[in-house]
Parts: sequence; structure tokens; C-alpha cells
Amino acid sequence: MRVPFVDLYAQYESIRSQIDRAIADSIRNTSFIGGQPVREFESAFAEYLGLNHVVGCANGTDSLEILMQAMGIGSGDEVIVPAHSWISTSESVSAVGARPVFVDTESDNFTIDVSKIEAAITSRTKAIIPVHLFGHPADMHVIMQLADKHGLKVIEDCAQAHGAMIEGKMVGTFGDAASFSFYPGKNLGAYGDAGAMATNDDALAEKARMIANHGQITKHHHRIEGRNSRLDGLQAAILLAKLPFLNQWTEQRIQHAATYHTMLQNSGLDLPATKPAYKHVFHLYVIQSEKRDALKSFLAEQGVETAIHYPTALPFLNCYQNRNPSTDQFPVAHAHQSRILSIPMFAELTEQQLQHVANAVNKFRS
Ligand SMILES: *Cc1c(COP(=O)(O)O)cnc(C)c1O
Repeated sequence: MRVPFVDLYAQYESIRSQIDRAIADSIRNTSFIGGQPVREFESAFAEYLGLNHVVGCANGTDSLEILMQAMGIGSGDEVIVPAHSWISTSESVSAVGARPVFVDTESDNFTIDVSKIEAAITSRTKAIIPVHLFGHPADMHVIMQLADKHGLKVIEDCAQAHGAMIEGKMVGTFGDAASFSFYPGKNLGAYGDAGAMATNDDALAEKARMIANHGQITKHHHRIEGRNSRLDGLQAAILLAKLPFLNQWTEQRIQHAATYHTMLQNSGLDLPATKPAYKHVFHLYVIQSEKRDALKSFLAEQGVETAIHYPTALPFLNCYQNRNPSTDQFPVAHAHQSRILSIPMFAELTEQQLQHVANAVNKFRS
């Protein structure tokens, strides 16, 4: 038996008629740029989140960048980001001319260690970008307290956490604004690149919308110079067709995680933890092993495809070597690099596939 890491075609097959109709309608109505599907998806996703504004854009990386620009963050400013994330989180800070300042992560949940944030705040710090990594929310209560105390903006990177919650409150609704990615493999994924910004702040939403569309709200009235980062019409139609299934897919991911948890109890590996009253939406199911590389090869032999998110923590990437990062600064993120392994996780996993993965992991030990 072969278990792929993710199977996007299986999801398409389960909603083929809705997707095919959405694509055909978009072409028939020639709603390629802007148009009804974009507006409808923005308002449907805003309603899903319980926020006043969703502004679609080209991808999740752009959404982080545009939000920072809209907040006036730029040259000379510092932005606090976790040491463990996808590079977009720090790359976007540099793209607006500011400096990403890394903070180590928690050992159990992979999210930013809130006890280490205050030491990283300087007079230049303008914002914090917590990442709800792998689908587990960062500790937003403490982050918002720190932000209030120091007058900082908070942009939640929700790229991996559509629908995740803390005490029933959805991620993306705690900070000043939220950034979403709809990269195909994300919990809500388009059939190409797509992203969105979300906020309750009217002025921020308008500014972000202007920046993403050449500085105009009304055509040919360029109040500022912006850029071209619009949500593609076809992608919006696909996302609109998929959104009604998001909750069901999330529940399936949570069930699969529970199955893994039960079956891997005695595997001797560290399994992902969820804090009490947190809703983890399991974008990824990340286990930890001292013998990670051997486990990865063994699973490949057993037909189980795995991945590493991410092989190198942000401060240790080549592009940040000029800062001379030391292991002592980021002990947890550094230790995770050689231990973490993402095993197959997607809503359409079958019971047999789950069993096969769990049996293979358990076999590694014996
Ligand atoms: C996917 C992702 C992004 C943005 O991704 P895009 O590919 O630009 O849509 C940002 N942050 C994190 C943590 C991500 O996983």
C-alpha cells in the first residue's frame, strides 16, 4: 500500500461537480479579474471568520507584506517573528524594508515562546507576527497583552490554521489583522496561488485593498502607488465552492489526528500536543524522533510518504547567516530541526491508510 503525503485529487473527486460548475461559470461570465466570485468569496470568508473585512490578494506572502505596508511598517523598524515557520513570515518583513527579529519556539507546540518575546522588544519594534504553525494556535492572550503594553501591532499568520480556535474564538480575530494563504495544500486551498487579508479595521482594509490593486479603489484614481496582487477570479470561484466544506474537512483532520494519537501511544515518539481549550486544525501532524532520518527512510520503504516542515529553522537559513545566529539563542527551534517529521494528513485519508501509516511507524521501533 502507498500512502501519499497529501492527495489533492481525492478532494477534487469528492466535489467535482461543484468545482467544474464554478470554473465553467467563471469562464462563461468572463470574471477573470475581479467580478462576482471574488466579491462573494471575500464576504463569505469574512462571515466565516466573523470579521468585517476580507481583502483577497495573490498569495499569503503578499498578504503579510501588504498588511505591513498598510500599517506603515518599513525601513528602520523591527518585527518579531517565530524562529520556526515557513520563510514567508520573515521574508515579508524584509520585503517592506524592516528587520525580522526571531524568537525561539515552544517545545510542545512549535509556536512562538511568549515568555521570550519581551526580551526581543526594542524601541524600533513595531509589530509581532505570531504563526499558528501546523494548525495549533499561538498563545494569543499573552501576545495581545504584550502588544498592548508596548504599543505594537499584531498580524496573525493564519496560513496553516483556517478555523483554529482558542476558547471558541477563531484565530485571525485576536490581532489587528490576519493573513491567510490558500496555497493548494493548505486547509482551504485554491488550484494555484491565492491569499487574503482579514481585519475589523475599516481604514486598514481600504489601504490594503488599494495597495493590492495599484493604489486605486475607483479605477484610474491612483491615490498612491500600489502593486498588482489581486485574488484571481478563477481561484476565488474555486475557493467559494470549497468553503462550505471547510468545517467538515477540519473535523476529519481532527479525527485522523485522534486516530494517530491512539495508535501511536506506545510508539515511543513525541506526538503533537494540544493545549487545553485550543482547537488544533492539524494542517500537519508532526511527530518527533531522535532517529528521524532513519524513520523517514523506513516509512518510505513501507510506502508512506512524509515531509519535514522545515529542515532548517529560519535563523539558520543561508540568507540569515550574516547575523551569526547561535544555537543558544534558539535551542528549541534548533533541536526540532533534526527531530520533526510530518506524516500523511488530509481529510480524505481512509481508515486503511491511517492504519497502514500507524502500523509502519510502530514497526520501526520493534
Ligand atoms: C503557506 C504559508 C505562507 C504564505 O504562503 P503563500 O505560498 O505565499 O500563499 C505564510 N506563512 C506560513 C506559515 C505558511 O505556511
